Amino acid sequence: MNSPKEIKTDKKPRNFLPLITLIILSAVYGCNNPNSGEVVKTEPVPAQKIPKTKVVTTFLPVYLFTKAVAGDVADVEILVKPGTEVHEYQGTPANVKAIATAKILVKNGLGLEEFLADTIKNAENSQLVEIDASKGISAINKISPIDKTAAAEHDHDHQFGNPHVWLDPVLAKQQIINIRDGLITADPENKVNYQANAAAYIQKLDNLNNEFQQTIKQTPNCTFITFHDAFPYLAKRYNIKQLAVVEIPEKQLSPTDVQKVVNTVKKYKVKALFSEPGLDNKLLTSISQDLGLTVRTLDSLETGDTNPEYYFKAMKANLESLSAGCK
Ligand SMILES: [Zn+2]
Repeated sequence: MNSPKEIKTDKKPRNFLPLITLIILSAVYGCNNPNSGEVVKTEPVPAQKIPKTKVVTTFLPVYLFTKAVAGDVADVEILVKPGTEVHEYQGTPANVKAIATAKILVKNGLGLEEFLADTIKNAENSQLVEIDASKGISAINKISPIDKTAAAEHDHDHQFGNPHVWLDPVLAKQQIINIRDGLITADPENKVNYQANAAAYIQKLDNLNNEFQQTIKQTPNCTFITFHDAFPYLAKRYNIKQLAVVEIPEKQLSPTDVQKVVNTVKKYKVKALFSEPGLDNKLLTSISQDLGLTVRTLDSLETGDTNPEYYFKAMKANLESLSAGCK
């Protein structure tokens, strides 16, 4: 049996708490030879001293994808905190500071992050490397022929096309590739990590794509209504049809909106109505009862959990919702 005293003489001077830890470890691993060095191995490994590459990302999906590729080799931050509306977001002094000290910035692109140009300018970081996650993706332009209500005030949102590409697992894969390649160019020392992490995430995206294909082909040409023009890429990918009738969540449905929903459901033989998680939709629920349709939720992932696995959890829930609504 080791005596704690023997171990202590092996070590550099230390404070009281680690000594207690060693005593406990020594008791647990009582048969260790004090000269073998095995006791030393059981100590917690100290955090790396070399500062990690600092990467800032704009909002949740871009954060999830970048975090998935970066793993533990880079520090990844998010500018637009989950729960904050990205479409109308204004940059903050904290955002300016974060960009000023970052090496890399990752954005979704396609005109989504309108706040970014001024925020980057104010950060005055001439070394900053920007990664556009949507590079090479061709945007869908005007989506829903009946999206009239919000058109006037939201036109600027779509000058680069609809930005919600992350909601199509195949385009999400392209975003992962863009992020991976951008990180490797800016931080080649961690190339092997970025490649391995991206490959693992891409594998899961491929599986997700298969699940969508297998499930949605059972309800082809399903026409559904959303209240956030977020799913045109997903719909196009799997041969279903999104109609974005009115834009919430920032506004409650008005009686005119309700009439519009009713008319659209009748005109286009709509199968399903999809709201957003956490949205108060009493009015929607009551009209859906009149129409004989159940309101379900589709998550645009603009807010939610910051674990990269959240993407798959939310997308699988979306698939269940679509599948149930389109039956
Ligand atoms: Zn959106």
